[in-house]
Amino acid sequence: MKSYLDWSEYRDAGMGDAYADIPKIGGDFAKAVAVCINSRRCESLAKGVMCPSFRLDANPSLSTGARVRLLKAALNGELRNGGMITSELVEAMDLCVSCKGCQRECENNVDMSRIKIEYLAQLNASKGLSLRARLFSELPELLAKRHWLIKLIAIRNRRPWIATLAERLLGISAKSPLPEPVEAPRQYTLREIEGGQPVVLFADTFCKHYSPDILTAAVEVLQAVGCQVSLIGALDEKERYCCGRTYLSQGRIEEARQQAEKLLKKLAPYAQRGIPLIGLEPSCLLTLRDEYRALGLGMMTDLVAGKAVLFEEFLAKGIKGGRLNLSWSEQAIAVQQPVMVHGHCHQKAVGAMKSMRKVLKQIPGVNFEMIEASCCGMAGSFGLEAEHYETAKAMAEQALLPALDARPEALIVANGFSCRHQIETQTGRPALHLAQLIRLLMA
Ligand code: SF4
Ligand code: SF4
Repeated sequence: MKSYLDWSEYRDAGMGDAYADIPKIGGDFAKAVAVCINSRRCESLAKGVMCPSFRLDANPSLSTGARVRLLKAALNGELRNGGMITSELVEAMDLCVSCKGCQRECENNVDMSRIKIEYLAQLNASKGLSLRARLFSELPELLAKRHWLIKLIAIRNRRPWIATLAERLLGISAKSPLPEPVEAPRQYTLREIEGGQPVVLFADTFCKHYSPDILTAAVEVLQAVGCQVSLIGALDEKERYCCGRTYLSQGRIEEARQQAEKLLKKLAPYAQRGIPLIGLEPSCLLTLRDEYRALGLGMMTDLVAGKAVLFEEFLAKGIKGGRLNLSWSEQAIAVQQPVMVHGHCHQKAVGAMKSMRKVLKQIPGVNFEMIEASCCGMAGSFGLEAEHYETAKAMAEQALLPALDARPEALIVANGFSCRHQIETQTGRPALHLAQLIRLLMA
């Protein structure tokens, strides 16, 4: 079997272990699947058990371990109807929202999110790509090159019959509004900060095309703490960089690799000089630290991954080291409005919520609460897909929406683009990125 990702980091996994039960075919990919020790911990509803698809109604066939068992059977040729495309396996993998919960919480760190990318690549090779998968994966390029698309999204959101037609033709749920990109690119003003710490701020597709105010806020905050900011990917319309996340989410590994290579070449010289590479959208920035390691792009990957940090991680580290000082306005000190914080699954998977907490603790008098919830359900494009809309909503209804309903007066902070979209769609309330909250309250 040809694998599309580089699974060599699993080469020695389970070797010599009589119980590892490594499938006969699949090479290093099979070893990545076989790291599951079949403890079935992921099939209990204990607090902290990770998988959002399992948590919905405790269906054991939608747990991480069940996916592993089906994949092993497929690789061993034990499934009816041709292995990877057997309906039980297709359904189980389809409902994995790639939250990376298992990567962190499974006792043997099964990385189902990465396994799903390989699985989708295998499926694409045998069944081809749907038009919807093509559209979602090519979104960064479409937004940059096809300005009519921006108008079309706005019209679709205001004309229910077009949304219904799009559902029939493309499988995009008519029940959910689509996030609307801004029409014109934002101009960013970068100040010279004499003697300032050089940092790179990566303008990901979602901030650049949908929420440029987050980029502006991040620039202002970073400059306020004395950073000399270089903005990558948003100053010149022709200079476009993308992490490749949307391609990876649809199993288009070769296209993701091309995007990754271009971005790595741009970022590597800064990383070589020890300059932090800051990102705002967790799913984009963390791709540089995680999935890039499986793209076989060599030394540049580790160099860049070693300097890639989330905005909140950068601030938290600077605060801890006494290098960064934020000063707060009188308004911040007087603020009585509670702040509810929803973590993106990938932030939680790398422990970045500790950094969120550390930064929020700096704001005098702010009353913040971290919401105890699993995935919001949107998970990239998952919640926009007609067949997944209700499942995605049910995921949000498990804990996130009740927590927000209980505090109708609260400000909401969510650093993930799709989390903000889900919150706004389901509650009608806006959600801010941490950078916007800090800008609102700083002196
Ligand atoms: S996926 Fe992880 S938690 Fe679930 S059975 Fe396998 S090892 Fe245990
Ligand atoms: S990535 Fe998330 S949804 Fe997928 S199996 Fe792991 S915990 Fe479940």
